Amino acid sequence: MTRIPLMAGNWKMNLDHLEAIHLVQGLHMALTDANFDYSKTEVVVIPPFTDIRSVQTVVEGDEMGIKYGAQDVSVHASGAYTGEVSANMLKKLGVSYIVVGHSERREYHGECDQKVNQKARVALENGMTPIICCGEGLEVRKAGEHVPHVLAQIDGALAGFSAEEVAKSVIAYEPIWAIGTGEVATPEDAQEVCAAIRVRISELYDEETAAATRILYGGSVKSSNVADIMAKADVDGALVGGASLEAGEFSKIARFDA
Ligand code: PEP
Repeated sequence: MTRIPLMAGNWKMNLDHLEAIHLVQGLHMALTDANFDYSKTEVVVIPPFTDIRSVQTVVEGDEMGIKYGAQDVSVHASGAYTGEVSANMLKKLGVSYIVVGHSERREYHGECDQKVNQKARVALENGMTPIICCGEGLEVRKAGEHVPHVLAQIDGALAGFSAEEVAKSVIAYEPIWAIGTGEVATPEDAQEVCAAIRVRISELYDEETAAATRILYGGSVKSSNVADIMAKADVDGALVGGASLEAGEFSKIARFDA
């Protein structure tokens, strides 16, 4: 079973729509200069909602191989939900991926596993791929409870999903203590938890589903550490925050084997 590597850049609340156009064009140029093969690695940018239409316009206009995603989605289809954005609105903008359950959403917006499950379902039902985030805080890691903690999040996030839906989804393991801190989990740390997630999927479903599901690592990934992380058997890509805001750096991350 071949899993195509996925390099996704979560811009968080950075860059207005003009800066977004500039970054996507710069990324495309850097990858084109390096003869990048988009059929071998998927490259995804995940801008704020207000940038998505502009990103769509340049990506489609210049027929770029870059895909784009959204950082969140409403569980509701439409109606009186001030400030929310529906899956159908994102689908109409050509969005391929939706991040659900990022630790910042869990921390600042109280998103629980049940909400993450609902959002992932909404993404799938609308033909988009959820990037389901999980990960432990420092206290849990220090207590050595990181694997059961993450597996409980996975059980909650995937509740009620069919094997086919899981295989279509992407999981991102992001230890919270390594996000935006410069503190990177070792490649062995990343492998330990990504492998445990894959085993869990095989227990919940079957080997085939586990072998098909892409599992990313996220947390202070840079061009200087990405190759060692990607060398691990159960790591299929990276969810990148800070280092995705610079075209040259993110293009090097996307070419992790260059
Ligand atoms: C993230 O927020 O998903 C992330 C991994 O951030 P950073 O790469 O900046 O640690």
